Amino acid sequence: MLIDAHVHLDKYGDLLDDALREIDEQRIFTVATAMDVPSYLELQKIGDRSNLVLPTFGIHPRRAAEYASQLRDLGRYIEASPAIGEIGLDFHWVKDTSTYGAQRKVLEYFIAAARDQKKFVNLHTKAGEKEILDLLEKYDVRRAIIHWYSGPMDILRAMIQYGCYFTIGVEVLYSDYIKEIAKAVPDHLLLTETDNPGALRWLKKNDEVGMPAAIKKVVDALSQLRESTPKKIESLVQTNFSRLIANDPWLHTVSPVVVS
Ligand SMILES: [Zn+2]
Repeated sequence: MLIDAHVHLDKYGDLLDDALREIDEQRIFTVATAMDVPSYLELQKIGDRSNLVLPTFGIHPRRAAEYASQLRDLGRYIEASPAIGEIGLDFHWVKDTSTYGAQRKVLEYFIAAARDQKKFVNLHTKAGEKEILDLLEKYDVRRAIIHWYSGPMDILRAMIQYGCYFTIGVEVLYSDYIKEIAKAVPDHLLLTETDNPGALRWLKKNDEVGMPAAIKKVVDALSQLRESTPKKIESLVQTNFSRLIANDPWLHTVSPVVVS
């Protein structure tokens, strides 16, 4: 089974039906990460339409400033969500430094909740890599997916040492640096993502909408880089994702789908 561990399904608009059909036809297990509260409410509805879609709640660093002063209101969404994400820090693309304090506050709140509620986290780490690793260590949150890692190699190694999982995404098709990262991630921590539907459009500066089957291109690229085969990469990633969610009481309905 293909695993797409980081997707923004609520952003498909008119193409949502097509995307869900493709997910079902290609059997792509999809972790649907939220950006904020309206995004999560939408994803919950989408999740009801496919047992291959797992909606998860988080506040994206871009949206953190709006939520930092009302964190207690988020409790019920966090509790309802089987995992946490998208959360993180962005000190690179987000230029407004006045939001950085809010980003830190929101992230720490979610990491603490992940520890208390024993949920895995799906992290955006742009230019906040070291700080995020420090937070994972501080709260002893062991089950972490680092989404689209593009930071320094020494922090990558430290995160690997800690046991973080890494989603390699569509940038592996275009960037030598991401290829290097894709080779450095050890077998047991390798995951895949598309960050659909916007990632391809963002990378190629065109109007291409990333459809779910783009995950196959990521798998193909990984099989070449790692001197493997697409089938072996697919099954390796499935094994890794199954291990990540194993014994997770929140995910008992998902596990049989992924393991089968
Ligand atoms: Zn994302």
